[in-house]
Amino acid sequence: MPLHALLATLLSTANQTSWRSCTSLRSLQDAGECSALASYARARPMNTARCGGSPGSCTPDEWVEGRALSQSHRRLKFLRDGSLPFTNIVRYEPGPPTAALMPPGKCVLGAEWLPLPLLERHAIAHDVVLLTFGLLNAQQPLGLSTCACLLAQAPGPRNAATQTPVVRPYTPVSTNAMRGKFQLMVKVYPDGLLSRHLAALPIGRTVAFKHIPVNVKVQYPFHARKIVMLAGGTGVTPMLQALHALLGTSDDATRVTLVLSNKEQKDILAGSILDAWTEAYSRKLRVVHTLTREPPASRWRGRRGRIDKPLLEEYMPRPASTSGALIFVCGPPSFYETLAGPRGDKGLSGLLAEMGFRADQVVRF
Ligand SMILES: Cc1cc2nc3c(=O)[nH]c(=O)nc-3n(C[C@H](O)[C@H](O)[C@H](O)COP(=O)(O)OP(=O)(O)OC[C@H]3O[C@@H](n4cnc5c(N)ncnc54)[C@H](O)[C@@H]3O)c2cc1C
Repeated sequence: MPLHALLATLLSTANQTSWRSCTSLRSLQDAGECSALASYARARPMNTARCGGSPGSCTPDEWVEGRALSQSHRRLKFLRDGSLPFTNIVRYEPGPPTAALMPPGKCVLGAEWLPLPLLERHAIAHDVVLLTFGLLNAQQPLGLSTCACLLAQAPGPRNAATQTPVVRPYTPVSTNAMRGKFQLMVKVYPDGLLSRHLAALPIGRTVAFKHIPVNVKVQYPFHARKIVMLAGGTGVTPMLQALHALLGTSDDATRVTLVLSNKEQKDILAGSILDAWTEAYSRKLRVVHTLTREPPASRWRGRRGRIDKPLLEEYMPRPASTSGALIFVCGPPSFYETLAGPRGDKGLSGLLAEMGFRADQVVRF
């Protein structure tokens, strides 16, 4: 075969990112990615009915488990370029809260970056995707403790100033009851470096993950009589993780108030889960929504405006009587700064300090 024809064939195979191309075009592709796909494929049985029984004839898209396969192919069309708003939105229904608890130090991810393949992606809101990533061992859970997050890094996007790969924290919304995979709920920003990359990543391609001890923020049981969760936008994901443990443990009597701030009603992440859990656990969980940019003419009857001192005074325990109370905070940088001071600070400042709370009563995720 002439050289240019051979190259064209090789490149077209590479574009399909098939299993065969991954092994034969190692030099043309990210080697780390190939080896992760290879280990993943070895560790997990292929969907042989669909891909003809041989690994060589199976594209990474076909590794997606049979049940969701055809749907994923269809949805991928809408999400391939990550452009917003997403259509073809499916409902995210994780079921009842599940306390599948692990102590810190048992996560299958460690301090080294480990590339893991994207198995499925579904739009669950106009700008939110639910991503399922495969683990190398199909029998093992992620093994993350509660509460903790992962760090994700993709080879594509780079920080403009340093030209280093972009790294961002994400809190899985799946629990350790899920084996061989885990799920992230990711809000996609039109100018978001990593979230846009995740929204357009082809099924079967990898993202590198790691988990380091500093990402363990607090450990269940929380030993608190009352917990107030203050969350902005995607800051709800660590709260969902904590709620799985708190509500999923039948003899846990902690009372929880989640104050959740979003721009508009359509931005409320996991709203239907929170509604269902509030209804089922009304003695333990109360959720207060506040919207900062909901159009004035809308039918929204809930609170409006940012989380400010009057709102906090309404829902927070008095600092003097707070032994046994904990406050969890997660949101964008300005959210931490206003409420508790910068995320990395040891000391407490912001509104919570003004109200008399101590640093050891506040957990910044
Ligand atoms: C402990 C922790 C857990 C997190 N878990 C999740 C999660 O499970 N799911 C998830 O989607 N995100 C989560 N985040 C936020 C996530 O880490 C990224 O900040 C987010 O995905 C944006 O990254 P990006 O590279 O796409 O955007 P960037 O390129 O960093 O920013 C793009 C634009 O989005 C704005 N922006 C960035 N982050 C936020 C934010 N958090 N809120 C509002 N505006 C923002 C920026 O101001 C900018 O205008 C978590 C953050 C923390 C601290």
